[in-house]
Amino acid sequence: MKIVILLGAPGAGKGTVAARVATGISARHISTGAMLRDAVAKGTPAGTAAKTFMDKGELVPDNVLVDMVDELLAAAASEDILLLDGFPRTLNQARSLETLVARHNVAVDLVVYLDVPESVIMERLCGRRVCSCCGAVFHITTLPPKQEGICDLCGSELIIRDDDKPETIHNRLLVYEKLTAPLVAMYNAENKLVHVNGVGTADDVAESVAAILKR
Ligand code: AMP
Repeated sequence: MKIVILLGAPGAGKGTVAARVATGISARHISTGAMLRDAVAKGTPAGTAAKTFMDKGELVPDNVLVDMVDELLAAAASEDILLLDGFPRTLNQARSLETLVARHNVAVDLVVYLDVPESVIMERLCGRRVCSCCGAVFHITTLPPKQEGICDLCGSELIIRDDDKPETIHNRLLVYEKLTAPLVAMYNAENKLVHVNGVGTADDVAESVAAILKR
């Protein structure tokens, strides 16, 4: 099993890039945010508990995420390449991940940091639209759907994510700086970090990431 972490601020493009890269190299794109949104939509106990945090732009408690990732690792096959998008997000989650992967006799192979300035991030998050059904991501100016408000992939309605409202975006960025940004220095010190310029088209950034993974 190969484990690659995609690090970056909210709106850095982790999900968009991971989806493209995963298709190209037959990896599994694991988005903890998407898993939580799914749990919220299904109204599971974990989803109901998570929604309060997500709506405010706060992080869901570490134990919920660690249990989710533990289950994923247990179910993964030895030949799987896992692209972790949105986990770990705290130093505590990173330490728990080390324990989990050691239990499965694997290690974190690489951490790709998508570097995007805050001005670009704000523009991306404010213009982001997601499919209410399949979760595909669009942007009103940089990645518009063929028909306004409609998903190109499944024809369902495009919506603004609850946590993409301006006041929530601001809080998510503060939370990122305080709790997640320290992981960049940590993985850098472990010589696992590769910087990628995350400004550019989704295809270009995905191509840069895919090239790194193929090395
Ligand atoms: P994302 O789709 O990655 O932007 O995640 C959306 C929201 O899900 C975040 O703002 C958090 O509330 C929650 N979330 C996703 N991943 C994590 C994580 N690793 N730890 C805590 N909360 C998370």
